[in-house]
Amino acid sequence: MSAMAKKYRIGVDVGGTNVKVALVDKSGSIVYSDTVPTRAEMGYEYTISNIIKAIGDVMKEAKISKESVEGIGFGFPGQIDCDNGIVRLAPNIPGWVNIPIADIVSKEFSIPVRVDNDVRCAALAELNFGAGKGASNLICITVGTGIGSGLIINGKLVRGASNAAGEIGHIKLQMENGPLCGCGDHGCFEAFASGPAIVAMAEEYIKGGKSTKYRELAKNEITPYVVCEAAKQGDVVAKKIFEIMGNYIGIGLASVVNLLNPEKIVIGGGVADAGDLLFVPIKETLKKRAMPIQGAAVEVVHAELGNTAGVIGASLLIEN
Ligand code: ADP
Ligand code: ZN
Repeated sequence: MSAMAKKYRIGVDVGGTNVKVALVDKSGSIVYSDTVPTRAEMGYEYTISNIIKAIGDVMKEAKISKESVEGIGFGFPGQIDCDNGIVRLAPNIPGWVNIPIADIVSKEFSIPVRVDNDVRCAALAELNFGAGKGASNLICITVGTGIGSGLIINGKLVRGASNAAGEIGHIKLQMENGPLCGCGDHGCFEAFASGPAIVAMAEEYIKGGKSTKYRELAKNEITPYVVCEAAKQGDVVAKKIFEIMGNYIGIGLASVVNLLNPEKIVIGGGVADAGDLLFVPIKETLKKRAMPIQGAAVEVVHAELGNTAGVIGASLLIEN
Protein backbone atom coordinates (compact mmCIF):
# COMPACT_ATOMS: atom_id res chain seq x y z
CA MET A 1 0.00 0.00 0.00
CA SER A 2 1.27 3.48 -0.82
CA ALA A 3 1.93 5.91 1.97
CA MET A 4 -1.25 7.39 3.38
CA ALA A 5 -2.13 10.73 1.79
CA LYS A 6 -1.19 13.59 4.03
CA LYS A 7 -4.43 15.51 3.90
CA TYR A 8 -4.06 17.76 6.92
CA ARG A 9 -1.83 20.36 8.52
CA ILE A 10 -1.77 21.74 12.04
CA GLY A 11 -1.59 25.47 12.69
CA VAL A 12 -0.61 26.95 16.07
CA ASP A 13 -1.16 30.65 16.81
CA VAL A 14 0.72 31.71 19.93
CA GLY A 15 -0.43 34.92 21.61
CA GLY A 16 0.37 36.68 24.88
CA THR A 17 -2.77 35.27 26.52
CA ASN A 18 -3.86 32.17 24.59
CA VAL A 19 -2.54 29.60 22.15
CA LYS A 20 -4.89 28.40 19.41
CA VAL A 21 -4.26 24.99 17.87
CA ALA A 22 -6.17 23.88 14.78
CA LEU A 23 -6.25 20.92 12.43
CA VAL A 24 -6.70 22.43 8.97
CA ASP A 25 -7.45 20.66 5.69
CA LYS A 26 -6.03 21.62 2.30
CA SER A 27 -9.03 23.79 1.46
CA GLY A 28 -8.24 25.98 4.48
CA SER A 29 -11.13 24.69 6.59
CA ILE A 30 -10.62 24.14 10.29
CA VAL A 31 -11.54 20.53 11.04
CA TYR A 32 -10.99 20.73 14.76
CA SER A 33 -9.49 23.29 17.12
CA ASP A 34 -8.58 23.91 20.72
CA THR A 35 -7.32 26.82 22.82
CA VAL A 36 -4.96 26.66 25.79
CA PRO A 37 -3.67 29.47 28.02
CA THR A 38 -0.13 30.74 27.31
CA ARG A 39 0.80 31.53 30.92
CA ALA A 40 4.23 32.81 29.95
CA GLU A 41 4.97 33.54 33.63
CA MET A 42 5.19 29.76 34.19
CA GLY A 43 8.16 29.56 31.80
CA TYR A 44 8.37 28.50 28.16
CA GLU A 45 8.69 24.78 29.03
CA TYR A 46 5.24 24.93 30.62
CA THR A 47 3.70 26.61 27.57
CA ILE A 48 5.36 24.17 25.17
CA SER A 49 4.19 21.12 27.11
CA ASN A 50 0.62 22.52 27.02
CA ILE A 51 0.94 23.09 23.28
CA ILE A 52 2.24 19.56 22.71
CA LYS A 53 -0.64 18.14 24.69
CA ALA A 54 -3.14 20.26 22.74
CA ILE A 55 -1.67 19.11 19.39
CA GLY A 56 -2.02 15.48 20.51
CA ASP A 57 -5.58 16.10 21.74
CA VAL A 58 -6.66 17.76 18.51
CA MET A 59 -5.50 14.76 16.45
CA LYS A 60 -7.13 12.36 18.89
CA GLU A 61 -10.46 14.19 19.03
CA ALA A 62 -10.58 14.48 15.24
CA LYS A 63 -9.60 10.78 14.98
CA ILE A 64 -6.70 11.58 12.68
CA SER A 65 -3.38 9.77 12.87
CA LYS A 66 -0.16 11.75 12.77
CA GLU A 67 0.75 9.94 9.53
CA SER A 68 -1.90 12.01 7.74
CA VAL A 69 -0.49 15.32 9.04
CA GLU A 70 1.92 16.92 6.57
CA GLY A 71 3.31 19.59 8.87
CA ILE A 72 2.89 21.75 11.94
CA GLY A 73 3.24 25.53 11.63
CA PHE A 74 3.68 28.07 14.42
CA GLY A 75 2.86 31.77 14.24
CA PHE A 76 4.53 33.97 16.88
CA PRO A 77 4.19 37.68 17.58
CA GLY A 78 7.87 38.37 17.31
CA GLN A 79 11.14 37.85 15.49
CA ILE A 80 11.75 34.36 14.21
CA ASP A 81 14.71 32.51 12.75
CA CYS A 82 12.62 30.80 10.08
CA ASP A 83 15.48 28.67 8.69
CA ASN A 84 16.10 27.03 12.04
CA GLY A 85 12.64 27.25 13.59
CA ILE A 86 13.81 29.34 16.54
CA VAL A 87 11.83 32.08 18.29
CA ARG A 88 14.41 34.82 18.71
CA LEU A 89 12.31 37.28 20.63
CA ALA A 90 8.60 37.70 21.33
CA PRO A 91 8.18 41.03 23.18
CA ASN A 92 4.71 40.17 24.58
CA ILE A 93 5.62 36.64 25.66
CA PRO A 94 8.27 37.02 28.37
CA GLY A 95 10.93 34.32 28.49
CA TRP A 96 10.76 33.34 24.83
CA VAL A 97 14.30 34.22 23.82
CA ASN A 98 16.10 31.86 21.41
CA ILE A 99 13.68 28.98 21.93
CA PRO A 100 14.18 26.14 19.38
CA ILE A 101 10.47 25.34 19.17
CA ALA A 102 10.70 23.48 15.82
CA ASP A 103 13.27 21.02 17.18
CA ILE A 104 11.32 20.37 20.35
CA VAL A 105 7.97 19.80 18.64
CA SER A 106 9.23 17.86 15.61
CA LYS A 107 11.05 15.42 17.91
CA GLU A 108 7.83 14.86 19.82
CA PHE A 109 5.65 14.04 16.80
CA SER A 110 8.09 13.21 13.97
CA ILE A 111 6.24 15.75 11.82
CA PRO A 112 8.06 18.64 10.08
CA VAL A 113 7.64 21.97 11.92
CA ARG A 114 7.87 25.51 10.52
CA VAL A 115 7.81 28.78 12.45
CA ASP A 116 7.17 32.35 11.33
CA ASN A 117 5.85 35.71 12.45
CA ASP A 118 2.10 35.79 13.15
CA VAL A 119 1.23 38.66 10.80
CA ARG A 120 3.00 36.83 7.96
CA CYS A 121 0.83 33.83 8.77
CA ALA A 122 -2.28 36.03 8.57
CA ALA A 123 -1.08 37.33 5.19
CA LEU A 124 -0.71 33.77 3.87
CA ALA A 125 -4.20 32.87 5.09
CA GLU A 126 -5.84 35.96 3.55
CA LEU A 127 -3.93 35.38 0.30
CA ASN A 128 -5.01 31.76 -0.04
CA PHE A 129 -8.48 31.69 1.48
CA GLY A 130 -9.58 35.22 2.42
CA ALA A 131 -9.73 38.81 1.22
CA GLY A 132 -6.54 38.48 -0.81
CA LYS A 133 -7.57 35.55 -3.00
CA GLY A 134 -6.25 35.88 -6.53
CA ALA A 135 -3.75 38.66 -5.75
CA SER A 136 -0.04 38.25 -6.47
CA ASN A 137 1.15 41.47 -4.84
CA LEU A 138 -0.50 41.90 -1.51
CA ILE A 139 0.19 43.67 1.74
CA CYS A 140 -1.66 42.48 4.81
CA ILE A 141 -1.51 44.82 7.80
CA THR A 142 -2.90 44.39 11.30
CA VAL A 143 -3.72 47.39 13.45
CA GLY A 144 -3.91 46.63 17.16
CA THR A 145 -1.39 47.38 19.88
CA GLY A 146 1.11 47.95 17.06
CA ILE A 147 1.02 47.85 13.28
CA GLY A 148 2.47 44.75 11.64
CA SER A 149 2.54 43.51 8.08
CA GLY A 150 3.05 40.51 5.88
CA LEU A 151 4.31 41.20 2.35
CA ILE A 152 3.53 39.01 -0.65
CA ILE A 153 5.40 39.92 -3.82
CA ASN A 154 4.96 37.91 -7.03
CA GLY A 155 2.93 35.40 -5.04
CA LYS A 156 5.74 34.77 -2.52
CA LEU A 157 6.11 35.76 1.09
CA VAL A 158 8.95 38.27 1.55
CA ARG A 159 11.16 37.45 4.57
CA GLY A 160 14.31 39.50 3.99
CA ALA A 161 18.00 38.98 4.78
CA SER A 162 17.42 38.17 8.44
CA ASN A 163 13.75 37.18 8.38
CA ALA A 164 12.78 40.62 9.68
CA ALA A 165 11.13 42.17 6.60
CA GLY A 166 7.70 43.77 6.86
CA GLU A 167 8.14 46.06 9.87
CA ILE A 168 5.75 48.59 8.43
CA GLY A 169 4.98 50.01 11.89
CA HIS A 170 8.46 51.49 12.09
CA ILE A 171 8.38 53.49 8.88
CA LYS A 172 9.41 56.97 9.97
CA LEU A 173 6.78 59.67 9.63
CA GLN A 174 8.66 62.41 11.46
CA MET A 175 12.29 63.48 11.42
CA GLU A 176 12.66 64.89 14.93
CA ASN A 177 10.69 65.16 18.17
CA GLY A 178 8.13 62.55 17.14
CA PRO A 179 6.25 60.38 19.65
CA LEU A 180 8.24 57.60 21.33
CA CYS A 181 7.78 54.17 19.76
CA GLY A 182 8.01 50.73 21.40
CA CYS A 183 11.11 50.04 19.27
CA GLY A 184 13.00 52.81 21.07
CA ASP A 185 13.01 55.27 18.17
CA HIS A 186 10.78 58.34 17.76
CA GLY A 187 8.31 59.28 15.06
CA CYS A 188 7.44 55.76 13.81
CA PHE A 189 4.19 55.08 11.96
CA GLU A 190 2.73 52.96 14.80
CA ALA A 191 3.52 55.61 17.41
CA PHE A 192 1.10 57.86 15.47
CA ALA A 193 -1.54 55.32 14.48
CA SER A 194 -2.37 52.26 16.57
CA GLY A 195 -4.55 51.32 19.55
CA PRO A 196 -2.40 53.15 22.14
CA ALA A 197 -2.18 56.24 19.88
CA ILE A 198 -6.00 56.39 19.74
CA VAL A 199 -6.15 56.23 23.54
CA ALA A 200 -3.43 58.89 23.93
CA MET A 201 -5.24 61.24 21.55
CA ALA A 202 -8.57 60.62 23.30
CA GLU A 203 -7.03 61.48 26.68
CA GLU A 204 -5.40 64.56 25.21
CA TYR A 205 -8.77 65.91 24.06
CA ILE A 206 -10.23 65.36 27.54
CA LYS A 207 -7.30 67.19 29.14
CA GLY A 208 -7.89 70.00 26.69
CA GLY A 209 -11.35 70.37 28.23
CA LYS A 210 -13.37 68.71 25.45
CA SER A 211 -16.55 67.10 26.65
CA THR A 212 -16.92 63.77 24.92
CA LYS A 213 -19.18 60.76 24.72
CA TYR A 214 -16.30 58.32 25.24
CA ARG A 215 -15.53 59.90 28.58
CA GLU A 216 -19.06 58.90 29.61
CA LEU A 217 -18.86 55.42 28.04
CA ALA A 218 -15.48 54.53 29.50
CA LYS A 219 -16.09 52.95 32.89
CA ASN A 220 -12.50 52.60 34.03
CA GLU A 221 -10.32 53.15 31.04
CA ILE A 222 -10.58 54.54 27.57
CA THR A 223 -9.98 51.92 24.88
CA PRO A 224 -10.05 52.19 21.08
CA TYR A 225 -13.26 50.15 21.23
CA VAL A 226 -14.92 52.73 23.49
CA VAL A 227 -13.82 55.61 21.26
CA CYS A 228 -15.28 53.70 18.29
CA GLU A 229 -18.61 53.22 20.07
CA ALA A 230 -18.71 56.95 20.88
CA ALA A 231 -18.01 57.78 17.23
CA LYS A 232 -20.85 55.50 16.12
CA GLN A 233 -23.14 57.40 18.48
CA GLY A 234 -22.18 60.58 16.70
CA ASP A 235 -19.53 62.00 19.05
CA VAL A 236 -17.69 64.63 17.01
CA VAL A 237 -14.37 64.32 18.87
CA ALA A 238 -14.34 60.51 18.55
CA LYS A 239 -15.09 60.73 14.83
CA LYS A 240 -12.27 63.24 14.44
CA ILE A 241 -9.85 60.87 16.20
CA PHE A 242 -10.62 58.07 13.73
CA GLU A 243 -10.33 60.50 10.84
CA ILE A 244 -6.85 61.57 12.00
CA MET A 245 -5.85 57.92 12.57
CA GLY A 246 -7.09 57.03 9.10
CA ASN A 247 -5.11 59.91 7.63
CA TYR A 248 -1.93 58.67 9.33
CA ILE A 249 -2.52 55.11 8.16
CA GLY A 250 -3.19 56.40 4.64
CA ILE A 251 0.08 58.37 4.67
CA GLY A 252 2.05 55.36 5.90
CA LEU A 253 0.47 53.12 3.29
CA ALA A 254 1.12 55.66 0.52
CA SER A 255 4.87 55.15 0.99
CA VAL A 256 4.47 51.39 0.94
CA VAL A 257 2.27 51.52 -2.15
CA ASN A 258 4.78 53.72 -3.98
CA LEU A 259 7.60 51.35 -3.03
CA LEU A 260 5.98 47.99 -3.75
CA ASN A 261 3.05 48.69 -6.12
CA PRO A 262 0.66 46.09 -4.63
CA GLU A 263 -2.78 45.46 -6.12
CA LYS A 264 -4.33 44.83 -2.74
CA ILE A 265 -3.98 45.92 0.87
CA VAL A 266 -5.81 43.80 3.42
CA ILE A 267 -6.34 45.47 6.79
CA GLY A 268 -7.18 43.47 9.92
CA GLY A 269 -6.59 43.60 13.68
CA GLY A 270 -8.95 44.81 16.40
CA VAL A 271 -8.79 48.50 15.48
CA ALA A 272 -9.84 47.71 11.88
CA ASP A 273 -13.20 46.65 13.34
CA ALA A 274 -13.96 50.38 13.45
CA GLY A 275 -14.81 49.83 9.77
CA ASP A 276 -15.69 52.85 7.63
CA LEU A 277 -14.77 55.26 10.41
CA LEU A 278 -11.19 54.26 9.63
CA PHE A 279 -11.39 52.89 6.09
CA VAL A 280 -12.94 56.01 4.52
CA PRO A 281 -10.10 58.38 5.58
CA ILE A 282 -7.49 55.68 4.82
CA LYS A 283 -8.74 55.30 1.25
CA GLU A 284 -9.10 59.06 0.71
CA THR A 285 -5.61 59.84 1.97
CA LEU A 286 -4.07 56.96 0.08
CA LYS A 287 -5.63 58.09 -3.21
CA LYS A 288 -4.49 61.65 -2.55
CA ARG A 289 -0.94 60.91 -1.41
CA ALA A 290 0.20 57.83 -3.38
CA MET A 291 1.71 58.37 -6.82
CA PRO A 292 -1.02 58.20 -9.49
CA ILE A 293 -0.14 54.90 -11.17
CA GLN A 294 0.46 53.00 -7.93
CA GLY A 295 -2.56 54.65 -6.28
CA ALA A 296 -4.86 53.63 -9.14
CA ALA A 297 -3.70 49.99 -8.98
CA VAL A 298 -4.40 49.35 -5.32
CA GLU A 299 -7.59 48.27 -3.59
CA VAL A 300 -7.98 48.49 0.21
CA VAL A 301 -10.17 45.82 1.82
CA HIS A 302 -11.02 44.54 5.28
CA ALA A 303 -9.52 41.18 6.32
CA GLU A 304 -12.01 38.32 6.06
CA LEU A 305 -10.72 35.56 8.28
CA GLY A 306 -10.71 37.41 11.62
CA ASN A 307 -9.03 35.57 14.45
CA THR A 308 -8.79 32.30 12.47
CA ALA A 309 -6.23 33.83 10.08
CA GLY A 310 -3.36 33.01 12.47
CA VAL A 311 -3.92 29.24 12.69
CA ILE A 312 -4.93 28.85 9.04
CA GLY A 313 -1.84 30.79 7.92
CA ALA A 314 0.45 28.88 10.28
CA SER A 315 -0.84 25.63 8.77
CA LEU A 316 0.24 26.92 5.34
CA LEU A 317 3.88 27.46 6.38
CA ILE A 318 4.73 23.91 5.35
CA GLU A 319 4.28 24.88 1.69
CA ASN A 320 5.61 28.44 1.93
P1 ADP B 1 -3.23 43.06 19.75
O1 ADP B 1 -3.28 41.60 19.43
O2 ADP B 1 -2.22 43.84 19.00
O3 ADP B 1 -3.28 43.40 21.20
P2 ADP B 1 -5.86 43.24 18.51
O4 ADP B 1 -5.64 43.15 17.06
O5 ADP B 1 -6.53 42.10 19.20
O6 ADP B 1 -4.56 43.70 19.24
O7 ADP B 1 -6.70 44.57 18.80
C1 ADP B 1 -7.07 44.93 20.08
C2 ADP B 1 -7.47 46.38 20.09
O8 ADP B 1 -8.55 46.59 19.19
C3 ADP B 1 -7.95 46.85 21.45
O9 ADP B 1 -7.22 48.02 21.77
C4 ADP B 1 -9.43 47.15 21.23
O10 ADP B 1 -9.88 48.24 22.03
C5 ADP B 1 -9.46 47.49 19.78
N1 ADP B 1 -10.80 47.31 19.18
C6 ADP B 1 -11.63 46.25 19.28
N2 ADP B 1 -12.78 46.49 18.61
C7 ADP B 1 -12.67 47.73 18.09
C8 ADP B 1 -13.50 48.55 17.30
N3 ADP B 1 -14.74 48.18 16.92
N4 ADP B 1 -13.03 49.77 16.95
C9 ADP B 1 -11.82 50.18 17.33
N5 ADP B 1 -10.98 49.46 18.07
C10 ADP B 1 -11.40 48.26 18.46
ZN1 ZN C 1 9.32 52.07 15.99
